[in-house]
Order: sequence, then structure tokens, then C-alpha cells
Amino acid sequence: MNPNPIATPNDAASAVPKYPVRGYGFAEYATARNWIGGRLVESSTGQTSSVENPRYGRTMGHVALSGVADVEAAGAAAKLALPGWRSTPMRERAQVLHRLKGLLERDLDELCWLLSAENGKTWAEAKGDIEKGIECIEFACALPMMADGGGLDVSRGVHCEVVYEPVGIVAGIVPFNFPMMVPLWMIPNALVAGNAFILKPSEVVPFGALRLGAYLREAGLPDGIFQTVNGARDAVEAVVEHPDIGAVGFVGSTKVARIVYGRATALGKRALCLGGAKNHVLVVPDADMELTAGNVVASSFGCAGQRCMASSLMVAVGPTQRIVDGIVQHARKIRLGEDMGAVISAAAKVRIEQYIADAQAAGAQVLIDGRGASVAGCEGGHWVGPTLLDHVRPTMPAACEEIFGPVLSIVRTATLDEAIAVQNQNAYGNGAAIFTSSGAIARYAAERLTAGMVGINVGVPVPREPFAFGGYKDSKFGHGDLTGFEGFQFWSKAKKITTKWSLQADASWMS
Ligand code: NAD
Repeated sequence: MNPNPIATPNDAASAVPKYPVRGYGFAEYATARNWIGGRLVESSTGQTSSVENPRYGRTMGHVALSGVADVEAAGAAAKLALPGWRSTPMRERAQVLHRLKGLLERDLDELCWLLSAENGKTWAEAKGDIEKGIECIEFACALPMMADGGGLDVSRGVHCEVVYEPVGIVAGIVPFNFPMMVPLWMIPNALVAGNAFILKPSEVVPFGALRLGAYLREAGLPDGIFQTVNGARDAVEAVVEHPDIGAVGFVGSTKVARIVYGRATALGKRALCLGGAKNHVLVVPDADMELTAGNVVASSFGCAGQRCMASSLMVAVGPTQRIVDGIVQHARKIRLGEDMGAVISAAAKVRIEQYIADAQAAGAQVLIDGRGASVAGCEGGHWVGPTLLDHVRPTMPAACEEIFGPVLSIVRTATLDEAIAVQNQNAYGNGAAIFTSSGAIARYAAERLTAGMVGINVGVPVPREPFAFGGYKDSKFGHGDLTGFEGFQFWSKAKKITTKWSLQADASWMS
């Protein structure tokens, strides 16, 4: 069955432009309009904001700014399409996602360059972004094998079963740092679950997300089942307030996660809101030098430190100077512009450099200073080189707050318990890691670290599918996790059906 007999992928209104550049060169991109009802449409406000290529610090395009009327239009289109999608068997819904995977793989190179241009990350990092998104699609494609809900004869002749139903119209609000992966944490599970999904992309990186609507249409998704409403705060507020949107997934800073969670739940909606992070990496004297130094550097400076799972605070326990020296050596090898990209904006660069200056003024030792860095040919870009701060005290802002840039602060402690206490006292609890050769030390720490995702000799302990993603403390508001089967359950309602067909007189509901 073709679930979308009306869709003609190549008609002008649904044709999203190609990105013409295959390299780090500068190119402009067409304005990111909204994707509503299977068409690119102007926003009702008529306003746009500019989108920068961070490598050049130059405007590469514009994005529509939306308001209440745009979310209402998306809601109306979703409402119209939902009954047909909801009654489509889950296996057929999953087939659309199978085809989406193929389309992303077909255009992988182009998409990597596009994501690199809008976000500033390297081509290889953009590839990782998309590939992790594809892994989430693969998980959702397997849901028909897993989401049967279960059933049992609970009494003589009496059967109880669980069936998952979609929430209905749901929404996702996403940050700038992973333009493809974070939307794909949510969209595949939500769609296979039978929902209509409205995405509010980051206004800072709207162009990759813009492609998803056209790909899903090409994959056979009915118009109105996946839509994007671009914009900033006004668009978010309109999404959260919309009476027909029943569940909101949010990923971004803690400040906004808290606001969105508070408002959505006050309105009786389901909400799961992932926030910021300050990820601690504990290094003990028996850690393997090469493994530790390589992993810590990759974790702290990969994606220019703009990963919610980046290690931004290392707690060096006891005599670990040789490992600190190894980290310095590894970090010095990073070639800015090739191994590491630009940070997202001029404001981010100012913020990051201020943290470095303040830590230095407060007595931290700057082992490597990324301030004033530049890349030939891209002098206008937002560059901050890898920065290593040693002898940071746990109370300094550089040790407590999320910097979200390529800065690794090192706090020294005498004992493992002190190191664990530093992590435990921090407000965030997304990820934490320990590097050690001892299973006993690893287990001791893993049991005591107050983070939702713990790495043992792994610098970026992002759970691979099917394991779910989500932190603790101020890194997450709401119950459950956003990916894996818990993600599917977030976008689903579990209905319990109890059946008795038995004609036996002695078989009652409680017998
Ligand atoms: P952000 O909070 O500024 O923006 C996230 C989304 O919220 C965007 O779509 C934006 O348009 C919207 N928004 C911004 N201000 C708003 C406001 N006042 N009211 C309503 N909506 C608003 O985050 P960002 O700068 O795009 O992303 C970086 C942050 O995201 C970091 O803190 C990072 O740790 C976090 N993050 C967390 C995870 C996680 O899994 N925990 C993953 C990725 C990023």
C-alpha cells in the first residue's frame, strides 16, 4: 500500500534546494521556511533572522520566525492527517523510516557539508552526527518486533494485554549542537508509534532539519505527519501552549528546559526536557596514559567542546601528572579548522574566553590557551583553540558552570572520595567518566557518581542504541529517557485490555 498516494516528491512547493559546496568553502543557502502540510510555506510573521556560517562568521542564509498562527496551521494539518497514519499498521509506518535511512545515506556527503557549514563542526563530526541519527532510525525500524506490549492469561479464561497507542500530535524542540542527531532522537520513535510530529529546529542551524520534511515525504510519509515550524522563543511558546499538542520533547540549555517543562506540565502535557551539562572525568593514578589522554582530549575538544557529553572538568586524583602531561601533548596536536571546528557564534566565543580569563585571574594555571586563535582564510570565524586550565578550584565558575566550548578545567584532589564529592556537588548530572585499570575502583565510582550516563575508560559515554539517553539532576526534567524503548514509551500511551470470552461458569475475572 502506498500510504501517501497524493505525494509527488518533486513538485516545486516541496522541493528543498541542494547544498552546492563539497568542502569547507563558503556558500549561501535558501531561506529556511516552514514545512507544513508537505509544502514549504512562508511564516505568518513575514520575519526572518540570519543564520551564520561559524567558520567564516558570515551570513549564509535566513530562517523564518514563526508565531502562533504557524503552529496552528501545523496543528490543523496534523489533525487532518493523524487518523490515517494512526490506523496504518506499525510495520508499514516503520517502512517509511527504513526508506528515510536510505535517503540520508544516499545524500550523506552533501548533508555533512551542509551541517558543517551551518554549525561550524568538521565534516567528520557532521558525519558522526548523522550516523548516530541513523542508528536511532534503525532502532525505530525494529519497534514492530518489540512493541507488542505483552499479554498474559491473568485468570481462568481471562486475558490481559497491553497495546501502545500514539499520544496524537507531539512536538520536539531542539538545540544547535547536533542539527540532525537530536531531532532523530525523537522523530523516528514518535512516528513509528503513530504520532504526528512537529519539529521546532534551532534557529541557529535550521537547514539540515529543513531537509527532513522533504526526505520523509519522499519516503512516503503522508503530508501533515511530519512538519517543521521554524523560529525562536515565540515559536517555542506557541508549540508549548497549543492545546492539541499532547507531548513535548525538549533538548537544550537547563534554563530553557526548566521553563518548557514547567509550562508544558502545568498545561497537563507530557514533557521530557534535557538540559545542560558539566561532565566530570575522574582520572586515577593507575589509568592507562595513552588511552586516557587520547579519550579525554577527544571528549573535551571534539565538536569544539559543544557536546552535552563533553568532559569539561577533569578531576585528577593523586599522582597523575604524567597523564596531565599526556593530555597536553595530545591537545597540542589538534589542528584548528581541520580536526576541530569553530564555535557557534561571536557571543559564544566571548563567553568562553571570559571563563578562561576569569579562571586565570582567580589563580588557575593556563597550560594551553586557545584565546586569539585563528584559521588562515577564515579569519572572521569564531575560533577558540583547545584550552587547558590546571589547578582550578571546585568553586570557580570554570569548574561549576557549563562553558560549552573547548575548555577543560582540571581540579586536583588527594583521594577518589574527594573527586566523587566534587562531581556529586555539581548541579548537573548528564555524563561522568572514570579512567582506571582497576575494576574495583571503576565499580566504586560508577555506583557513587550522580550522573545518568557513566563511562568507564570511555570519554563520551553516550549509550548506543538500544540503550536510552538521559541524565540526572539539572540535566533532565521529567521521567524516563528520550531514546531507546523509553523514548518510544514517552511518545505512546499504554492501554490495558482485559478480555474474557470463556463460557465456563466457574471462570470469573478474579477466579
Ligand atoms: P538553547 O536552550 O538556547 O536552545 C534550545 C531551543 O530552545 C532552541 O530551539 C531555541 O530556539 C529555544 N529557546 C531558546 N531560548 C528560549 C526561550 N527563552 N524560551 C523558549 N525557547 C527558547 O540551547 P542551545 O544553545 O541551542 O544548545 C546548547 C545547550 O543544549 C547546552 O546547554 C547543551 O548542554 C544542551 N544540550 C543538552 C543535551 C542533552 O541531551 N542533555 C543535548 C544537546 C544539547
